[in-house]
Amino acid sequence: MSATVDQEKTGLGNYFIANYPPFSAWSSSQIPNALQALNAKPKPDTPLGLYLHIPFCRKRCKFCYFRVYTDKNAKEIETYLDALVKEVQLLSRSAVIDNRPLHYVYFGGGTPSYLSAQQLRDLMTRLREIFPWDQAKEVTFECEPGTLQKHKLETLREMGITRLSLGVENFKKEILQFNGRAHLEEEIYRAYGWARELQFPQINIDLIAGMVGEDWENWRRNVQKTLELAPDTVTVYQMELPYNTVFSKEFRIIGQDESIGAVADWPTKRAWVAYAFEEFEKAGYIVTSATTAMKNRETQFVYRDALWSGADMFGTGVASFGHIHGVHMQNVDTWEAYIEKLNRDEIPIGRAYTLSAQELFTRETILLLKKGYLKRDYFLKKYGKDIMVEFAPQFQELKGMGFLSTTTEGVQLNREGLIQIDRHLPIFFEIQYRGTRYT
Ligand code: SF4
Repeated sequence: MSATVDQEKTGLGNYFIANYPPFSAWSSSQIPNALQALNAKPKPDTPLGLYLHIPFCRKRCKFCYFRVYTDKNAKEIETYLDALVKEVQLLSRSAVIDNRPLHYVYFGGGTPSYLSAQQLRDLMTRLREIFPWDQAKEVTFECEPGTLQKHKLETLREMGITRLSLGVENFKKEILQFNGRAHLEEEIYRAYGWARELQFPQINIDLIAGMVGEDWENWRRNVQKTLELAPDTVTVYQMELPYNTVFSKEFRIIGQDESIGAVADWPTKRAWVAYAFEEFEKAGYIVTSATTAMKNRETQFVYRDALWSGADMFGTGVASFGHIHGVHMQNVDTWEAYIEKLNRDEIPIGRAYTLSAQELFTRETILLLKKGYLKRDYFLKKYGKDIMVEFAPQFQELKGMGFLSTTTEGVQLNREGLIQIDRHLPIFFEIQYRGTRYT
């Protein structure tokens, strides 16, 4: 098999670029820098966000690589939520807040909707006493459709959730089951109906192109069914196979085999995303990044935009990622270590990385390119650097591949370039980070 064909297969390893420099460069030796950053004066006009990791799920999806637990009892969940509240309390004393209200809040997972209505009410009441989010532009809550009941959604609405993100992924029962998803198709419709009835300001649907068992006919149906629901935003991921998933382990043993099931190759997944985007556009949606389509120009995704343009964010919960005052930080990544540190009233950071001015500039260039364009003026004002000069060879390379065009105002990716931009982003990395394992 030729190298090109091999590269186009869905091999093991992470594909998407969520941050820069890669996580493998972060280390525990930089924890003191993280603590210092928490007590620095914030940079002017930097929004502040709060991410909360709720690491519980009904079962583990076979493609999942997040830190999640499927075996915790009610007592243990209570212990975790107490620790989480304690962490938020400790962080709320940081000088870096400097009276800034929260600009955005994000409950991610795991499955935040795994918690009961009562647990959510208690948790959110305690959190809001410490850190009110009334002024936040967006409060997102991730849901697994099968865990929702109407009264749980009523609680969320009451607690100020503005954006509900439904992990639909696929509508077909067999595909959901084979990939280890816990929900059923009818649960999607039921949850969506309640969410609309309760008038959540924004509902997002997540889809994954390339779940094992996917084919063109079913993918078209997925897109059609999504359009019929008419969500405010749709996020379409391309299935990847990071090292520590159930599928990766299975495939390592048996190899990917069409007769058993395999993940479609990258060109097929890209064709599915391209098809989905075209259909959404026909229905009036606007594609606003490599993964997102939005109903109209007024629709926003505050968390993504803030994160990608260098906002501060407290990342709370086990193994969570945050970014404060130019320093990346990740919490300790085991249950025991997380609970233990909070029992000792310690901020549970496990590794950190202080970015240089150049790295901050590169990070923002890389992340914003995932939106499909870069504005020269924006970077000149913010960093005093001209992207057209700093990244001239990289833009030239993308141009040569037929993915990018340049004007005096900046650069623009075409659709083909946009939906595969993640695999080309390493050309922007400093030399020592190219080819490193991403995690
Ligand atoms: S629901 Fe999400 S976090 Fe939970 S196992 Fe599945 S993919 Fe992972």
